[in-house]
Amino acid sequence: MAEPLDRNAKSLNGLLREARACTHCAQQLPHPPRPILRAGRRARIALIGQAPGARVHESGVPWQDDSGRRLCEWLDVTRDELLDPDRFAILPMGFCWPGRRRGGDLPPRPECAPLWHARILQALPDLSLKVLIGQYAIARYLDDRRGRMLAETLASFRDYLPHTIPLPHPSWRSRLWMSKNPFFEAELLPVLRQRIHHLLR
Ligand code: SF4
Repeated sequence: MAEPLDRNAKSLNGLLREARACTHCAQQLPHPPRPILRAGRRARIALIGQAPGARVHESGVPWQDDSGRRLCEWLDVTRDELLDPDRFAILPMGFCWPGRRRGGDLPPRPECAPLWHARILQALPDLSLKVLIGQYAIARYLDDRRGRMLAETLASFRDYLPHTIPLPHPSWRSRLWMSKNPFFEAELLPVLRQRIHHLLR
């Protein structure tokens, strides 16, 4: 009975090797590609974020910045737990840092998620929850089920349970957004934490 898992592990490891060597949109990146993603065959939760920032690009460690600290608070997990690939698969919408523009980073490269996500997600046999972090992941995975505004989509979070939960991007800007949308801390975060604890138990 171990064979399907072993086969998944082999195909997952092969896929991760292939993805980490990807140069598909190298011409559009302002630096050599450095795909940053993690996944273990036992992962039950996929964190689908935006794209690595400059600090993460330099370190090669996902969510190693202030946004990652805030995300750990929201999920109520430690950094070690967040970075354990058998707990969380970390698959940004763009695996490589897309570079900067005035006022922040460029959007994730649009080629990346269509090229990689479905293949990697299919190689995770125990996956039970996708946490969609920010507008790009929400647009791809909720498509016409999302509201017109981010707040509208998040206020309807119960409609997407139990397999999907949308979140804002946990950048410094999220503090202002949270102060204007108190349901996020009062209602969404407790449900998110309960679901995460249940799946990590
Ligand atoms: S952003 Fe994605 S598609 Fe582009 S080079 Fe990096 S891994 Fe490949």
